Amino acid sequence: MPKMLVVEDDQTIGSVLTSTLTAQGYDVVWHQTGRGALLAAADTEFGLVLLDLGLPDLDGVEVCRRLRANQPGAVLVMLTARAEEMDVVVGLEAGADDYLTKPVRLGELLARVRAHLRRSGSVQPGGMMSAGELQIDPAGRRATVADHELVLRTKEFDLLARLMRAPGVAVTREDLMSDVWDEHWFGPTKTLDVHVAALRRKLAEISGHGAVPRIVTLRGHGYRLERPPPRSAG
Ligand code: CA
Repeated sequence: MPKMLVVEDDQTIGSVLTSTLTAQGYDVVWHQTGRGALLAAADTEFGLVLLDLGLPDLDGVEVCRRLRANQPGAVLVMLTARAEEMDVVVGLEAGADDYLTKPVRLGELLARVRAHLRRSGSVQPGGMMSAGELQIDPAGRRATVADHELVLRTKEFDLLARLMRAPGVAVTREDLMSDVWDEHWFGPTKTLDVHVAALRRKLAEISGHGAVPRIVTLRGHGYRLERPPPRSAG
């Protein structure tokens, strides 16, 4: 059972989250400050982190960024009372994989936690895939462009691998959410757009090393991965 880190300064919410997750058999460590959480994360590997963004000592988004840096394999879920879209986007860009808005419904929390732990890095391994000079090795979970590694977070890799399975084919938002995040997705899908934006940015950054595919937005439908045009000889 992977270890879980709960970062929540509110005594009531923190103890409810901790006791609920502990009752499900998870090995939970609860911290009430950002500093405490960062110290815990410095010497323990967590499978999942639930992070309240409103902390008394440090900015939650900064804590998110630092946790992401030293817990690259963890699924990071933000808890936010602030329903404003900007906070969610900033948090997702800082490294969170998902978010839940408060008040947290325990049934939804447990469903998401189970889905994340089950699906973390779970897009079916298969053979090597390539588009242009981008190569995806699902078994080794590596993406490279002409031997330069494209450093991707777990869900970014899964999303790219999902799109790479069918270049040129339109994939609906619902299919992407269910294949990469959860088969019974019922939350907002802002998460998907932020991950696509991050993928595009990373693909653009590495495109100096070789031709990479493009992710095309299909309004009201979803996304399509397009292979780069073949390079003309001479
Ligand atoms: Ca708080």
